[in-house]
Amino acid sequence: MKKIVLLGPPGCGKGTQSKLLVEKDNFVQLSTGDLLRSETSDGNSDLGKKVKDLMESGELVPDDIVIDIIVKKVEEHKNENIVFDGFPRNLNQAEVLDSSLDNVSIKLDHAIFFEIDFKILEERINTRANETKDSEKRKDDNSKTLLNRIEVFKSSTLPIVGYYEEKGIISKINGMQMVNEVYAEITKIIC
Ligand code: AMP
Repeated sequence: MKKIVLLGPPGCGKGTQSKLLVEKDNFVQLSTGDLLRSETSDGNSDLGKKVKDLMESGELVPDDIVIDIIVKKVEEHKNENIVFDGFPRNLNQAEVLDSSLDNVSIKLDHAIFFEIDFKILEERINTRANETKDSEKRKDDNSKTLLNRIEVFKSSTLPIVGYYEEKGIISKINGMQMVNEVYAEITKIIC
């Protein structure tokens, strides 16, 4: 059973590729963004409100909250193929993921990094924010928040690439290709 991490900035297509792996290759998608949105959907508790505010501004949610959610899911799905989408997002989370996999005697097989031209990504984000109807938008899907999320990605998440490089499990792919081309590259790496 494979355990893989997809790494890349918001809007690079990690979610789309995760869904293809679920549909075609029998993977379970663990998206911390989706898990956080469902945990805070009632938005009533103080913690829920704090998490919602952070997500809407594009900042990271504190590690202890995210880690608590993901560790439970790892245990639940340890005997299945797992694609981690949006986790880890900083070095501490990458280390915790390794140790929680270690606890159930498994290791990460691949970390796949989507290389993206940030200038083109920012242009796409602005176009998409202008074109999407307000009723269809996620609360954090406005250009100000998305551009902040890119900055957070550069400062907190990018250092993870070096961490996985040292472990010898990183593969870099061109994230600017068509969806089916990116998918073909991913399947080549994982099979
Ligand atoms: P996503 O759906 O992956 O784009 O995530 C949406 C938002 O959820 C992010 O901008 C963060 O505020 C929060 N989030 C998701 N995953 C994490 C994570 N691993 N660590 C911290 N915050 C996260």
